[in-house]
Amino acid sequence: MTISSLRAGVEGRVVGDVHSGLHSVFHRQVIQITAVEDVLNAVEYARVKGLAVAIAGGRHAMGGQQLAHRGLLLDMTGLNRVLYIDEERGLLKVEAGIMWDDLIGAMASSRWSIIQKPTGADRISVGGSVSANIHGRVLGRGPFVEDIESLEVVDARGCLRSVHRGDEFFSYVVGGYGLFGIVVTVTLRLQKKHNLRRRVRAASLADLVVTMRSLLEDGHEYGDFQFNIDSHSPQFLTEGILASYEPVGHYPFSREPSQKVLSESQWKELLTLAHTDKAEAFRRYLAHYLTTEGQVYACDTMQYSTYLDGYHRELDKELGKPRGTEVITELYVPPERLLRFMEDCRELFIRENADLIYGTVRMIRADHISYLAWAKEDYACVIFNLHTEHSAAGQFKNASIFRRLIKIARQHRGSFYLTYHRYADREDLDACYPRFAGFLKRKQELDPEEIFQSQWYRYYRDLYRD
Ligand SMILES: Cc1cc2nc3c(=O)[nH]c(=O)nc-3n(C[C@H](O)[C@H](O)[C@H](O)COP(=O)(O)OP(=O)(O)OC[C@H]3O[C@@H](n4cnc5c(N)ncnc54)[C@H](O)[C@@H]3O)c2cc1C
Repeated sequence: MTISSLRAGVEGRVVGDVHSGLHSVFHRQVIQITAVEDVLNAVEYARVKGLAVAIAGGRHAMGGQQLAHRGLLLDMTGLNRVLYIDEERGLLKVEAGIMWDDLIGAMASSRWSIIQKPTGADRISVGGSVSANIHGRVLGRGPFVEDIESLEVVDARGCLRSVHRGDEFFSYVVGGYGLFGIVVTVTLRLQKKHNLRRRVRAASLADLVVTMRSLLEDGHEYGDFQFNIDSHSPQFLTEGILASYEPVGHYPFSREPSQKVLSESQWKELLTLAHTDKAEAFRRYLAHYLTTEGQVYACDTMQYSTYLDGYHRELDKELGKPRGTEVITELYVPPERLLRFMEDCRELFIRENADLIYGTVRMIRADHISYLAWAKEDYACVIFNLHTEHSAAGQFKNASIFRRLIKIARQHRGSFYLTYHRYADREDLDACYPRFAGFLKRKQELDPEEIFQSQWYRYYRDLYRD
């Protein structure tokens, strides 16, 4: 793709995010990237024309993080090849637009595996995962930054740079929400493939932290707690399904034919029930999970998840409900505050009649590498996926719940994930991300023309200007 072909192809389009569908904006041009040269040309073109560049992978992020009104949108999903696997050292170099399921599929014959990926969806790109510094359900480990050996990045001057773990620039790009450069390749650290046995039990939040710690001590490598979503139940948020995964020998892996899995139609039923009969949804989900106790999985494909594209439109039609989707929020608290934090959330959800569709607790270790680390210390991470009606009243209601959740997390010495929405106020940011002003300052220094922008960035940049 040349610069003149970019000029010729001007064609505006409205693009939004996949999950919340709440942030669609008009882009002056959407550019399909298939080679590093396309990225270099697009940045050069933007610099000459004085245009903002937004970068999109799977478009699963919310908060308007991959979108910029009237800017150029770089669709990175065509830059998706596996470049090499170093079978000796356990390293993998991929282009940044590759999706996690394609990456795992491409490594089927390797003796190496990824360590973690996002657990909620597979069509998330590796570049988007670098920018969000994602985490999976791995135990005793920090976020994705721990798994990245090096990057190649096109910076705001339009230069292709090799970026290594010790570099200052690395600490801005990883967890930098696409504001410091365009990641074109990622070299990942891998682990040897091995099998894992899933252990499942109904568990109580009260014992969770102690149990998770002892599972980790016993060598369990992954785990999470999916809690009861039925606000009429005494067990709401406090009882749930604890699943953990312990190693049981090495590859090769062959799935037993009797292995229990949920089919796509069963997932659809569960999603419908989560909107209409939460008690039954949770009962069925727990019953299914308990039947998977003891099943053996490969450590990479175990991390696949089912995400039904466009499920909410179908659901709204089926239920005759006004347009809505789920919006995720993620809160962090020191593990010893988890129980009291959840009690406060419970009270809020019941009082405000919140429509909780799904939620989990995972554990994370502190990240000492990325500049704007969300895992500032060892935290319990709580995810709430709330149904949000798109009407003004629906959005207003949930905005106030999301704001309250941040305040509650702060009362428990906790924090929140920065970019799932734009409901945090300046006081929240200053308290939970004391480096945020420094982050914006470094952004100005490294990208003085503000080539890389997003709706999310514009909102908080302006908040800090006032
Ligand atoms: C249902 C669901 C489940 C999720 N589960 C998890 C989870 O378990 N764990 C977790 O940590 N997160 C999770 N997420 C969040 C998700 O992993 C992040 O939002 C991630 O950034 C999305 O990546 P994407 O490829 O979809 O990128 P996009 O949404 O397109 O972009 C995300 C961000 O990355 C930037 N970006 C994209 N590609 C590049 C690139 N090549 N170079 C530089 N910047 C780039 C964008 O500008 C934007 O800031 C979930 C989200 C959803 C909707």
